[in-house]
Amino acid sequence: MTPPPAPTMAAESNGAAAVHGGHRRRHVLLFPLPFQGHINPMFRLAGVLHSRGFAITVFHTHFNAPDPARHPDYRFVPVPDGMSGPAPVAIEDVVVQISTLSVACEAPFRDRLAAVLEEYSRDAVACLVADTHLLPIVEVATRLSVPTLALRTGSAASFACFVAHPMLCEKGYLPVQESQRDTPVSELPPYRVRDLMYIGKDGQGVLCELLARAVAAVKSSSGLILNTFDALERQELMDIRRNLAVPVFDIGPLHKFSPAAESSLLRQDRSCLEWLDTQPPESVLYVSFGSLACMSLRDLVETAWGIAGSGVPFLWVVRPGLVRGCAHQLPEGFEVATRGRGMVVAWAPQEEVLRHRAVGGFWTHNGWNSTTESVCEGVPMLCRPYFGDQMGNARYVEHVWRVGFEVGGELERGSVEAAIRRLMADRGGAEMRARAGELKKATAECTGKGGSSCQAIDKLVMHMMSL
Ligand code: UDP
Repeated sequence: MTPPPAPTMAAESNGAAAVHGGHRRRHVLLFPLPFQGHINPMFRLAGVLHSRGFAITVFHTHFNAPDPARHPDYRFVPVPDGMSGPAPVAIEDVVVQISTLSVACEAPFRDRLAAVLEEYSRDAVACLVADTHLLPIVEVATRLSVPTLALRTGSAASFACFVAHPMLCEKGYLPVQESQRDTPVSELPPYRVRDLMYIGKDGQGVLCELLARAVAAVKSSSGLILNTFDALERQELMDIRRNLAVPVFDIGPLHKFSPAAESSLLRQDRSCLEWLDTQPPESVLYVSFGSLACMSLRDLVETAWGIAGSGVPFLWVVRPGLVRGCAHQLPEGFEVATRGRGMVVAWAPQEEVLRHRAVGGFWTHNGWNSTTESVCEGVPMLCRPYFGDQMGNARYVEHVWRVGFEVGGELERGSVEAAIRRLMADRGGAEMRARAGELKKATAECTGKGGSSCQAIDKLVMHMMSL
C-alpha cells in the first residue's frame, strides 16, 4: 500500500505554525482524559501522528498534568479543571469526577482553543482528538468548526457495551441481581451479567449518563479511534462498524507503534529490570493492579501470603494508594519469607517488564492497556478484575483467547497459591502460555508491514488530512 502523503500544507507562513520540509505542518490537537490508562494511549497516538509529520498540541487538565519537559516536540496548553482536594479513590467517585471535570473544563477550553485557532490559523488545524469521556470538549470544538475524532482507550467489545447499556437496563440485566450473575447476556456474547460494567444500584444513574455521553461523543465526531486490533476483536470490530455511522480506526496496540511512553505519572523503578536479568526464563510472576484499582488490607495480606506460599519468583507493584484508607503494609515476615526470590516496587516500567524473557505470567486487574501489553508479549494472565471494563476484559482472556483464567471469589492465601502454581508450573498454564505465544504472533502480523493496524493508521492519517 502506498503511504499517505505527509500532512503538510503550502500556505503562507504564520509565525506560530510548525515548519516541516519547507511546508507548514498540519496540527493535531489532543485532549486526553487525565488518568494513566487514558493518558498512555493518547500519548502513544501522539507519537504515531508526530512520526507521520503532524505537529502536536496537547490540551490537558491541571489534575494529573503531563510533564512537558519529557515531550520537547509537543506544545502543551493547560486547561483549568476546577479540581481541588485529593484525587478520588473509590470508583463511584472517579465516575463522578470524570463528568465534573469535563464540564468544568468546557469554558476555559473554549477560550484556549479559540486562541490556538487564531494563532495557528484555522486551516492549519486538521482536527482535535478527544477521549470519548470528554463530550463537552468535543462539543466546544464542533461549535468552533474544528473536526473531532474520539479515542476510546478500551476494547471494541467494551464500547459495544456502552452502546448497549440502555438495552441492558431495559431487559433487566442491569442493575445486577445477585441470583443472575452467571446468566449469559445473549445479545452480547460472551458476556455474562457479572462481566458488565456496574458500580452498584446507587451509581447506576451516573454510570448510565457517563456511557451515554461517551456514545454521543463518538456519534458527533468524524471517526472513532480504538486501541484494539484485528487479531483480538475481528468480529467485535465488524459489529461496531455495522452499527456506527462514523469510520472506525482499529490502530492498536498503540504501544507497539510509538516508542516507550514518557507519559507515566509515577516514577518507574527501573532497578527491577536488573533483578529480572538474574532470573531464569519464564520463571517470574509479574503482579500489578494498574493505577486505580484498590484492595482491602485483608486482600493484600492474603495475596502476599499466597505469593509467598507458591514458591514462585515474583515482581510485585505495590503502588501508593493500593490499599484504601491506609498506608499499605505488607505483612510482617513477608520480606523474610520471600527474600532472594522476589521484588516489590512502587511502580514498574511495565511494558519492558512484560517484554523481559524472565517473566512467565502476569497477575493483572485486566485494565485494557495491561491486557493488550501482556497479549503482545505472549504472557499468560491470572485475572483479578475490579471494576469498569476489567471484568469484560478478563472474560475475553479466559473464555475467548484462552490465555489466562480468573482468580474469583474471596481471596484466600491457599487459593492464591494454587492459582499461581496452576499458571506458572502446571500443564494447564503451559497450554495457556503456548496459546499466548500464538496470539503474540497474530498480533505481530497486525502491527507488521502491511498489517491491519498499519493500514488503519494510514487510513486515519488520510482521513485527518481530508477533514
Ligand atoms: N503501568 C506502569 N507501571 C506499573 C503499572 C502500570 O507503567 O507499575 C502502566 C501500564 O503499562 C498501562 C497503564 O499503566 O499502560 C495502566 O493502564 P490499564 O488500562 O492497564 O489500567 P488502569 O490503570 O487504567 O486501571
